[in-house]
Amino acid sequence: MPFLLDQAEHLGIRMHFQPQCVDTEVVRGGVSATNELYREFWRMLLAEKRKGRPVVSSTPYLEFLSEWEDFSISAYHDPETRCPAGHGYLYVDPQGKAWSCVYAKGRTTPVDLLAQDWRTTWDRQNPCTRCTVGPMLEFNMLFKRPLAAALEGFRTYG
Ligand code: SF4
Repeated sequence: MPFLLDQAEHLGIRMHFQPQCVDTEVVRGGVSATNELYREFWRMLLAEKRKGRPVVSSTPYLEFLSEWEDFSISAYHDPETRCPAGHGYLYVDPQGKAWSCVYAKGRTTPVDLLAQDWRTTWDRQNPCTRCTVGPMLEFNMLFKRPLAAALEGFRTYG
């Protein structure tokens, strides 16, 4: 990580980090380190961001990952949590088949957008409600705290 951040500073770019996803239709693989090591990595990254290093991943995203219980599980259903997938964004494949998010592919029935309307056809069921799926997690943080996210984005890109 220090090398990557040094390189990013040298090149004048900012970096987004995301954990390895496992057990999805589009990404396969496993984790190779302990959960404590993963959490330590995200805590270090958060500390680097707070020092002003070129980390574009948001603070709540890094805080969330610093506390994720088990990195061998990318997503699970928590009845106390709602996920904005399907309401705020969706995933469409090249054939026009749509799912609430890319992780739902293979787990829920797709909507054929070439023949059906998303709002009236989607059953509003997500297979999971909490996840570490990088871009989706950032979206979900955005929906939870839109004003704070806009301010952080302004500070990062402004
Ligand atoms: S919790 Fe929501 S955004 Fe995350 S993988 Fe599941 S459906 Fe997608």
